[in-house]
Amino acid sequence: MGTVQIRDVRKSFGTFEVLHGVSIDIEDGEFVALVGPSGCGKSTLLRMIAGLEDITAGEIVIGDRVVNDVAPKDRDIAMVFQNYALYPHKNVRDNMGFALRQRRVSKREITERVEEAARILGLEPLLDRKPRQLSGGQRQRVAMGRAIVRNPNVFLFDEPLSNLDAKLRVQMRSEIKELHQRLKTTTIYVTHDQIEAMTLADRVVVMNGGVIEQVGAPLDLYDRPASLFVAAFIGSPPMNFFEGDFVDPTTFALADGTRLKLPVPDPKGRRHGTIGVRPEHFTLEQSGWPATVSVVEPTGSETQITARLAGRSIRVLIRGRTATRPGEAIHLGVEPELIHFFDAAPVPALA
Ligand code: ATP
Repeated sequence: MGTVQIRDVRKSFGTFEVLHGVSIDIEDGEFVALVGPSGCGKSTLLRMIAGLEDITAGEIVIGDRVVNDVAPKDRDIAMVFQNYALYPHKNVRDNMGFALRQRRVSKREITERVEEAARILGLEPLLDRKPRQLSGGQRQRVAMGRAIVRNPNVFLFDEPLSNLDAKLRVQMRSEIKELHQRLKTTTIYVTHDQIEAMTLADRVVVMNGGVIEQVGAPLDLYDRPASLFVAAFIGSPPMNFFEGDFVDPTTFALADGTRLKLPVPDPKGRRHGTIGVRPEHFTLEQSGWPATVSVVEPTGSETQITARLAGRSIRVLIRGRTATRPGEAIHLGVEPELIHFFDAAPVPALA
């Protein structure tokens, strides 16, 4: 069984604690992405699941075994690293079969398993090449092939796409998703890229400063971020934030005195707070929040507008095209259910 339970896990390097008690239950067959800014502890957590780092406190359970003291090779996991970690002098076939040979699997079975993985990944024509004769995407596929042949209960991915160019990254992302749909192997995937996490995972774990901020299905995090941090981290371009005072339930005053009419009152009835609107949730109206256009960027399918509102820069994303020009005054509307309310706090700096 490919279940993974992380129970109040802590990690210290010397006296410096980098994970402050993290708990997650991962179901068999689930694809979970660990996401968060640089230094939040996501790689450390993955390496602890793999057995590459000791567990300072807490328990990690894979299947029905506590693995705290189990060697990496006996954990029934396979890890794909950011730098692929291929053996440069071995060809693709031998790279993929290496772990099986060490386990004294029969030659015939190794051949069968390597060829099956090569077929799934489209690597058949490349089996006799050395890593240096492969493109970045092909190397990435070999690294995945090496994990697949082991037929583990759990795949662990550590930023596997970060060395690829943008286009290839998107293509490999779909391949990883397809692979998971086909093999249904439990997968834990570390990335700092929220789009990668959102598009791949059944559930996303947002980490920040060694703790979990929120765990949820991708669209739950997008629709109902539990904190300002998650609201700012999930979604691209990021949510716009405004800090100010509620003059009455539906009137919000910014620091410079600008008053914004709210389509709904804050459900928590705060007196001071932060409101958030995603760029794609603004609409251009005849009346509404007043702003002045500074930049218009059309991509064909949508138009990104940068505008000034009460002395700050905001982003507005309009589906399709608009005749709006820089310098023009616009009025922004937002649907009642698309406005977010948070406690007042400085918007977190994100990596
Ligand atoms: P990134 O995306 O940059 O890899 P991350 O979220 O994966 O970041 P970790 O690599 O898990 O972060 O690191 C978490 C914290 O632990 C960081 O502050 C890092 O400096 C520290 N750290 C990681 N490994 C060690 C180590 N071997 N010794 C001391 N400190 C470490």
